[in-house]
Amino acid sequence: MRSNRMPDVEAGNHIGGRWSATVDTLPVVNPATGETIAAVPRSSRETADEAVAAAKGAASGWAATPVFERAAMCLAIAAEIDAAREAIAHMLSIEQGKILAEAQGEVAKAADGFRLAAELVKQMGGKTLPAEDPGKLVMTLRQPRGVYGVITPWNFPVNIPVEYLAPGIATGNTIVWVPAPSTALVACALMAAIEKAGLPAGVVNLVIGAGATVGDAVVVHPDVSAIAFTGSTATGRRIAERGAGKPLLLELGGNGPLIVLEDADLDAAAAAAAGGAFFNAGQVCAATGFVLAHASVVERLCDKLVAKAADQVLGDPLHPATTMGPLNNAKVAAKVRAHVDDAIAQGARLLHGGRARPDLGSELFFEPTVVRDITPDMRLCREETFGPVVPVVAFQDEAQALELALRNDYGLSVGVFTKDIARGIAMAKVIPAGIVNINAGTTWWEIHLPFGGGCGKQSGIGRLGGMHTLEAMTEIKMITVTLPS
Ligand code: NAD
Repeated sequence: MRSNRMPDVEAGNHIGGRWSATVDTLPVVNPATGETIAAVPRSSRETADEAVAAAKGAASGWAATPVFERAAMCLAIAAEIDAAREAIAHMLSIEQGKILAEAQGEVAKAADGFRLAAELVKQMGGKTLPAEDPGKLVMTLRQPRGVYGVITPWNFPVNIPVEYLAPGIATGNTIVWVPAPSTALVACALMAAIEKAGLPAGVVNLVIGAGATVGDAVVVHPDVSAIAFTGSTATGRRIAERGAGKPLLLELGGNGPLIVLEDADLDAAAAAAAGGAFFNAGQVCAATGFVLAHASVVERLCDKLVAKAADQVLGDPLHPATTMGPLNNAKVAAKVRAHVDDAIAQGARLLHGGRARPDLGSELFFEPTVVRDITPDMRLCREETFGPVVPVVAFQDEAQALELALRNDYGLSVGVFTKDIARGIAMAKVIPAGIVNINAGTTWWEIHLPFGGGCGKQSGIGRLGGMHTLEAMTEIKMITVTLPS
């Protein structure tokens, strides 16, 4: 089953409608085997500048393209993604490490993302507004911002770019896209589908390279009007400084608690916690960061979590029996190990897993893990772990649970399990997070719904999802007309 067979795709930059390579390259490694499977460009700042010039050159033409034509283009791209679905999913699984079924789901959602943008852009409009002066007609238009810099991570390397590319294309922006280098091949496959659909040259330009080089060049470029970034809080902070003054959409890290109250359905809570921690091997911004469980149910909940962890089949992501693949890269694997080791050194109790499994093919396999007796100062509770770990913290009463949730540095997504819906809603109102799911896990979301962090925490600014992204990627232009008297 294990295979490095890659679909036929150009492994290069795509600028101004043309593929190009660079002499200097970065290796792409299959995380399940440790083998190098391709070389992709390590582009320079000058190459990023060329991509910006191409996007600038295409900007006025694409902005002037009728909305219905742009919507039709999104549908054509969706059709090309559908046609290439199996090949892209296979590549995604090999390159990122997620199991094939998850990869197939991600690619299907990507096509849906383009269809949704096509539908919504036809509904997006401005307003006419009243004025005190009866001799005025006041209207607002939604206009593209111009050249958008789009910088994306490796954990959902198809879906996250589509969250920006589809609304960006639909609303008439042109784009310079910088993907994470460790999943650059699948970015090339998505770019190939976009090209095949017939998108005019320069509307989307792909530049592969080290983020600190090409990403930074895009962020500071004076011809780049706005930045959309998904990635870590540390990089987001740097982008906010370097791109100060530009409209920024920042979707950053998370560490969301799943709160299990004493009256919760424990089977459902355990399924949600495990699903949120083991899906994509825990490499999800909205993953179950930690479980806050009422002391009266913590024992039973832990038993159920251990059973869920024991059910996981860790191994080759292409094998149909596998439920969890390797972590994507050495940096994330080192962080997961360090967080688990820190907790155990401080007295946490390891209930399941906790070890790397190089015997499965590479150093990047890490066992599904459950740890209890976690305290708020341990890294597993305080920081984003981004791995397949369920840390369990016990609390005595609701006030303490809320206090722990409020202390969280992140504010992306939280789950609350209780049969008392009024109590759940009351808690949801005060929890500082962009999303609170009552009786569902932290990862529950659908692509038309508002997704993002806030509340002054470290999870970013702005909202993705459906019309929210289309609005974020456009500017309001007010036009007033003084009517002839
Ligand atoms: P990262 O910040 O290391 O990299 C993200 C992207 O930024 C990559 O393309 C990288 O090349 C680029 N980059 C790096 N340095 C840069 C710089 N100085 N200037 C411009 N670009 C630069 O993040 P990652 O490790 O790829 O992704 C994991 C992180 O992303 C996690 O923290 C996760 O929570 C977060 N994430 C958030 C969301 C969300 O919607 N909130 C979704 C997915 C992932």
